[in-house]
Amino acid sequence: MLKAVLFDMDGVLVDSMPGHAKAWVKAAHDVGFSLTEQEVYINEGRTGDGTINILMQRERGRDATADEVKEIYSIKSHYYNLEPEPPVIEGAAEMLRSVQEAGLKCILVTGSGEKAQLARLEKHFPGVFTRETMVTSFDVCHCKPHPEPYLMGLRKAGVEADEAIVVENAPLGVQAAVAAGIFTVAVNTGPLPESALSEAGAGIILPSVKAFPEFLNTFIHKQ
Ligand code: CA
Repeated sequence: MLKAVLFDMDGVLVDSMPGHAKAWVKAAHDVGFSLTEQEVYINEGRTGDGTINILMQRERGRDATADEVKEIYSIKSHYYNLEPEPPVIEGAAEMLRSVQEAGLKCILVTGSGEKAQLARLEKHFPGVFTRETMVTSFDVCHCKPHPEPYLMGLRKAGVEADEAIVVENAPLGVQAAVAAGIFTVAVNTGPLPESALSEAGAGIILPSVKAFPEFLNTFIHKQ
């Protein structure tokens, strides 16, 4: 029986990925690394540390030091915070309301460490998420596509994997949720092909976040 829905943030609730992509590309170029926006979308879901280590491995053949991670992430955050405040994804508030009205728990599972963005969740979706119902980059040792963030989300919800579903927009996020044993609903809000989400193991791909309430209603009645 379904008891909880675990939501990714960037690209599912907030249309923040264009800003993240621009900020990562600028930060990488500032430290002499090459990076394209397409690569940012392919790596979407990783924590800042995870993304920086992949870049450092490619460019220097080694992991980044703690100081390098801190420096590069602070440059990325600086550029991200210069971007206009990202709008809420169309239909996100209605999606969260449909979950609450069905009597299910809403849990956030994000790789983000952008404090300003996390703080804005309360403004956009008042009363939906609290620190006790959020998993962020500050809570985990392993980032998506590792299952740890979603396993922690299940623990925070107090439910088993077969009592939850995940809503994700990124291939690595879908992989993480599937590795945690959770049925995963993908919404393709970015530039990657749908095949990237189905190959990652998505149980269903919805055309948009706006389609979620109808999907949930059908899913609950099929149980
Ligand atoms: Ca995402």
